[in-house]
Amino acid sequence: MQFAERISRLGTEQAFNVLAKAKEEERKGVDMIHMEIGDTDFDTPKPIKDACIKAVEDNQTHYLPSQGLYELREKLAPMLAKTRKIDVTPEDVIITPGGKPLILYTIMAFINPGDEVLYPNPGYPAYESLINFFGGKAMPLPLLGEKNFNFDIEEFKSLVTDKTKLIIVNSPQNPTGGVFTHESLEAIAEVAKEKDIMVFSDEVYSQFVFEGEFESIASFPDMAERTVVLDAYTKTFSMSGWRLGYGYVPQQYMKVFGNLINNTVSCTPNFTQWAGVEAWNDEALADLAKMKAELEKRRDIMVAELNTLEGCKCHTPGGAIYVFPDISETGRKSQEVYDILFDKAHVACLAGTSFGNYGEGYIRLSFGNNGEARLREGLERIKKVWPEILKK
Ligand code: PMP
Repeated sequence: MQFAERISRLGTEQAFNVLAKAKEEERKGVDMIHMEIGDTDFDTPKPIKDACIKAVEDNQTHYLPSQGLYELREKLAPMLAKTRKIDVTPEDVIITPGGKPLILYTIMAFINPGDEVLYPNPGYPAYESLINFFGGKAMPLPLLGEKNFNFDIEEFKSLVTDKTKLIIVNSPQNPTGGVFTHESLEAIAEVAKEKDIMVFSDEVYSQFVFEGEFESIASFPDMAERTVVLDAYTKTFSMSGWRLGYGYVPQQYMKVFGNLINNTVSCTPNFTQWAGVEAWNDEALADLAKMKAELEKRRDIMVAELNTLEGCKCHTPGGAIYVFPDISETGRKSQEVYDILFDKAHVACLAGTSFGNYGEGYIRLSFGNNGEARLREGLERIKKVWPEILKK
């Protein structure tokens, strides 16, 4: 049987494919160092685990309303209001099984075939993939290394047309670790309002800003009514396997978003949501602060070591859990550097091109997955094979 035509337009998140390949090597006895997948190695804070166990024992194991557990939405509303500087009631909060579904729902809800969507490139692969899947026109907004992965404002304006329906913002960014400046966010907000464009703001790294304060595009005047905000427990509390995400959806759109959940997964797991209620107490927040400090330390080690390599220029990312060094001066393509590191150093990373065309000349390494000793070992292995990368 032939697949539907749209399947040929579906991309992929390469991190999961490289993870599978690295696991395959491990089954053969190879000692791989994981720097590919965007995950952290910290334990989920105890109050969250305890709340989950209690919820299971209390038989919180049935369906819930599609929009999410009221007690969780009630917990998240003031937190979202404070961090995004907007008014949020529990009615404006939606709960999803991980953050990713909200990307799908937003594109499904707003994009007709032929509608243009501006998205960051290099950027998180699900954006381009899902825009194409639904027949939208994916319009890359190039993020520039020399601007700390912000964009050229004039170039941005030139990419907006009468067909632009949605602008995707991701700050702090995957894969670059870049953080949009106030001016970048303001430029997008001004254009979105002037041209009546929706904004999807992927803020899953909102808790991992290392310099200054996190700023959401939803905070700009009159933006809350045209912005869908995505956040998740995934990175914040090191809960990638739990599948717990949430978002702010402007009130007039919420019913449709709830119905998209209704039609796809019915609801997010019950006991997982009860666990999420306990995540914002002092003990869990203290764990988050510790985790952030540790991540910052790992980031600094990685940047310093990578900058000792000839032909490798690594900026200091302002947020998230990735470095995105420029390897173009080695004379190698991203994919070649990835291959050599995987095959010869047994270090799994990702080619910059896994994040779009504008990722050529870069590789992505996650500093979330390994404690200091293992991280240093990975960097040593990279150093050892580097002469081979330069040999070309
Ligand atoms: N957005 C970005 C920018 C991400 O990096 C990720 C995860 N790597 C997600 C969304 C999806 O997160 P989740 O695992 O919560 O679905």
